[in-house]
Amino acid sequence: MTDKTVAEVDRADMVSIVRGEILAEVSSGNCPFAQHVLLVDAMYAIDHQAERIATLDSENAKLKKAYQELGKMFHDQIVAQQAAWIEWQHGQGAEAGMRWIENGLCGPGHIPEEGEPYGTEAQAYFDANQSDPFPTCHCGRPSNILWMGKGFCSDAHYRSAQAVAPSPANPDKSEAQ
Ligand SMILES: [Zn+2]
Repeated sequence: MTDKTVAEVDRADMVSIVRGEILAEVSSGNCPFAQHVLLVDAMYAIDHQAERIATLDSENAKLKKAYQELGKMFHDQIVAQQAAWIEWQHGQGAEAGMRWIENGLCGPGHIPEEGEPYGTEAQAYFDANQSDPFPTCHCGRPSNILWMGKGFCSDAHYRSAQAVAPSPANPDKSEAQ
């Protein structure tokens, strides 16, 4: 069994056919010197391209594998959350459902420490630690509301920023500052 894909075999065949044709032309002895040099250059180029394609193929295979592994991890996390939801709605209730979540965090050591920043505040912990956090609120806390490129930690801080912002509805507010 070959470990090459159909596309890779086709490509390898194509390279060897073109290379063979050039080689036959060069060895026939009936091509002028200048053409001979061009053809040898072309052969080098083909060999170089074939090498480059092999390198890219191998890098591509590694990336694909990493991507598949990540996909599986993500998939299993969703399935565990679904199991937690089933436990909550149809099984032994919310407390038992949370054990599914806890088990998923326990193994890799992901239970948040009480002492770490926002370790006892669910929303702020999420806001601070999500992969792409919003800009920090003007009060210094992590944000979950995004408006005009600024982040806000709460409705109160969002509304106070809106109140002083210039807008068609209150155009003079910008000068009141
Ligand atoms: Zn704030």
